[in-house]
Formats: sequence, structure tokens, C-alpha cells
Amino acid sequence: MTTHHTRMLVLGSGPAGLSAAIYGARAGMKPIVVQGIQPGGQLTTTTDVENYPGFADVIQGPWLMEQMQKQAEHVGTTMMWDTITEVDLTQRPFRLVGDGGDTYLGDVLVIATGAQAKWLGLESEDAMKGKGVSACATCDGFFYRGKKVAVIGGGNTAVEEALYLTNHSDDVTLIHRRDSLRAERILQERLFAHPGITVLWNKEVREFVDGGGNAGLVALELEDTVTGEHSRIDVDGGFVAIGHHPATELFRGHLALDDDGYVSVEIGSTRTSVPGVFACGDVQDKVYRQAVTAAGTGCMAALDAERFLAEMEFQEMAEAAE
Ligand code: NDP
Repeated sequence: MTTHHTRMLVLGSGPAGLSAAIYGARAGMKPIVVQGIQPGGQLTTTTDVENYPGFADVIQGPWLMEQMQKQAEHVGTTMMWDTITEVDLTQRPFRLVGDGGDTYLGDVLVIATGAQAKWLGLESEDAMKGKGVSACATCDGFFYRGKKVAVIGGGNTAVEEALYLTNHSDDVTLIHRRDSLRAERILQERLFAHPGITVLWNKEVREFVDGGGNAGLVALELEDTVTGEHSRIDVDGGFVAIGHHPATELFRGHLALDDDGYVSVEIGSTRTSVPGVFACGDVQDKVYRQAVTAAGTGCMAALDAERFLAEMEFQEMAEAAE
């Protein structure tokens, strides 16, 4: 059992955590990144990435994350693999304990533990991921240009994704399990006014139908939640938009989370309710959720952390001189 002490402890190794580490390392904070059960984060489960700036040709999500990790290591980051089970944010250095008993002390802590899309939990959904089933229209909508697509869900995300998909498709269906949406009124008005969007009420997806061979997704089997009647709709793409789980269980009771469980940060910064603890990426963002925005907020977290440490050190020097 070892104790690792660093000026900057980063939890999470997706684009947010690694960008924070790159900036933190270059600022001399010798970051330690503790990567959890999904090293590299959500991008490691994606294939084609076309929207990360800087790459004219299509790149692969896992390759992008490998590159980010190497870049972080080249500038002085130490990567560690552990599952953190305990946190103490009541005093600095902040103290985190891994399940093997190692202790991590950070003069500042950057939380970049991300979020996971919620899925319906159907076997066919799992089998068709990447073959017509996705949880991110902004990432994958482009691949369905001129095709038929469906979005499942009734919240802001589902409605925004349906509206976004009309940039690529003029045949978008929103499928919701009830007869009213939970999304904000203004979004609902835009949705209902759009000629390219049809809403199917009181329907649940029972199966994502595989066309066989290389066909991928060809249809959805639906069940009416009121009458129990079964129906089928032909689609090339199915976007599940029923919410996300931010990975914040570890921090519940230790810092402020919002009603949906995301880490609350001061607007325009990555500062959390605990001075010296910063949050970046999807763990604090339920609106944009993109690799590039995660990387951007990772950079912000490192800059916020560096300023915080500089202020602390200045205060300590001033107190020592008194
Ligand atoms: P929400 O939890 O708001 O909505 C999830 C939707 O999915 C609900 O309509 C729910 O149905 C449906 N659903 C959940 N589970 C299932 C299931 N098993 N089968 C079928 N349908 C299901 O999630 P969102 O991601 O939309 O939003 C999360 C938060 O982020 C909200 O606070 C939202 O306002 C915010 N947000 C804000 C944005 C913005 O400001 N631009 C953009 C996106 C999100 P039911 O209604 O029946 O429960």
C-alpha cells in the first residue's frame, strides 16, 4: 500500500481528464491521473470520429484517446490504474483511497469522471450498437444523411437530437413512452412545428431489427403502452436519448451536485463547491457532451487549478512573513 502525493490529482482519463493533465503538466503541477474502469472514457467505445478538430481524415475514438494519453505522459503526467472507493475533501491535500489500499493525495483535485448514456437494456440494442444504434445524434447523425431515423425519449436531449437530425434527414420520428413530453416548452413547439418530424406517442421499443449481412438496423418493433398493440417502423438509425448517468456516486455528500446528480460548478468556471476541487467534462455538463467541449473544460480546470494553487502559495508566504 503506497501513498502518492501530487500537486494535481486528476480522476478520469477521457478527453477532459487528459486535457487537464496536459495543461497541468506543462504548468509544472506533475499531475497524477487515476483512470478508472473505462480508461479513455466514452470515446473508447466509439469507432469513427469526424468532429474532433485537427484531423482532416476520419479517426478512431480509441486511437484518439491513446494519442491524448501519450501526449499527457510525454509532458510529465503519471498514469495510474485504480478504482477509487473513498474520498475525503474536508482538508487539503484531498485524500482518495483506491480499492487496493493505495492513497492518493492531491493539493488540488480535478474530477473528470464523465457520464454514461442510459440504454433501454434490450439484447438487440446491445448487438446493434455502432450498426445503426447510437446514443449521440451530434456524433453519428451525419452518417444517416438522407436516411430514416428515430429518436427514443421525451426529454430535452431527445427533442434536441430529433431537431438536430433534421439537418441530415427529412424523415425523423420521435418515439415516446407516454403522451406528453418532459422537454421544455420552447423545444416542444419547435419539434411540433417541424415538417420533417413525426411523433409516435405511447410507444416502447421492443426490438432493434437487424437486416442481416451488412444491412445493420432496418426497423424497430414497437409496443403501444396503452393498448399493448405491436407495430413496426422502418428506420436506418435509432438514437436512444433517455438520459445519462453522471459518475458522481463517489462524491455524493462531499460536494454540491445538482438535481440530476451532475457536479455543480460556478458558471463560466470549473470551480465546485469545495475550494481546490474542479470538475470538467461530462460529469458537469448535460448540455454539450462532446469530446471537444470536454477537452476545453479540461483545459479550464487546469488553469483554474493553477491559479488556485498560486493564490494559496501567495497567502502562505504572506502569512509566514507576518
Ligand atoms: P431526462 O431524464 O430529462 O428525460 C429522459 C426521457 O427518456 C424521459 O422522457 C423519459 O420518459 C424517457 N425514458 C427514460 N427511461 C426510459 C425507458 N427505459 N424507456 C423509454 N423512455 C425512457 O433526460 P435528458 O437527457 O433529456 O435530460 C437530462 C437533464 O439535462 C434535464 O435536466 C434536461 O433539462 C437537461 N438538458 C438540458 C439541455 C439544454 O438546456 N439545452 C439539453 C439536454 C438536457 P418519461 O418522460 O416517461 O419519464
